[in-house]
Amino acid sequence: MARYTGPVCRRCRREGEKLFIKGEKCSKTTCPMNKRAFAPGQHGTSRRKLSEYGQQLREKQKAKRIYGLMESQFRKYFDIASNMKGITGENMLSLLELRLDNAMYRLGYGRSRTEARQIVRHNLVTVNGKKLNIPSYILKVGDVIEIREKSRTLQRFKDVIDVTASRIVPEWLSAEHEHLRGTVVSVPAREQITIPVRETLIVEFYSK
Ligand code: SF4
Repeated sequence: MARYTGPVCRRCRREGEKLFIKGEKCSKTTCPMNKRAFAPGQHGTSRRKLSEYGQQLREKQKAKRIYGLMESQFRKYFDIASNMKGITGENMLSLLELRLDNAMYRLGYGRSRTEARQIVRHNLVTVNGKKLNIPSYILKVGDVIEIREKSRTLQRFKDVIDVTASRIVPEWLSAEHEHLRGTVVSVPAREQITIPVRETLIVEFYSK
C-alpha cells in the first residue's frame, strides 16, 4: 500500500497546528511548530482568506494527515460512512478510530500512529487471540487487542510505555497495561474522539 515518505513536520506547518504525527518529538521543544508555525514555502508567512472550498479541502487534508492515510484510503471511509445509518461525518471518524493501528496508538502501544502501524505489520499483535498484521482492520465491540506474549518483554515496548504512560485512554477502550492488552467496549462516539477536525466540512468536500 502506498504511503507518504516526505517530510512529516511540514504537514503540521501546512495545517497551521500540531497534528502529533511524530510521537515523542511532538511534545518536545524541538517541535518545529514552536518556532515556525507558518506554512512552508516562499509564501508561507502571507495570510490568505480561504474560500469555502479551501476550508473544506484543508479540513480533509488535516484529518487524512492525522490518521496517516493516502487519499484513496481516506476516501474509502467516507464512502462506507455515507452508506451507514446516522451522521456521515461522525460515522467516518468512528471508522477511522476503530482501525487497529489507531486503537493501538490510543492504548499507548505506539508513540505515534506510524509506530503503531509498524508494530502491527511486524506481527507483534493479536486480536481475539489470533495474529493480525493488517493496520486497517476495523475493530468491533468486544474485540481484544493484545501484544503477543513473546513480544511483551521486548525493550521496544518498555521504551514505548515510558513515553505513553500518561496518555489518557479513551472511554471506548479499556486497557489492561500489565498485560499490554485492550478491549473495545463501545463504538467511539463523536465526543470521545479528540481530533481537532470539523468533519462536516469533509462531508461537504466529498459531496460536491
Ligand atoms: Fe507536528 Fe510532531 Fe513535527 Fe511538531 S514534531 S511539527 S507536532 S509532527
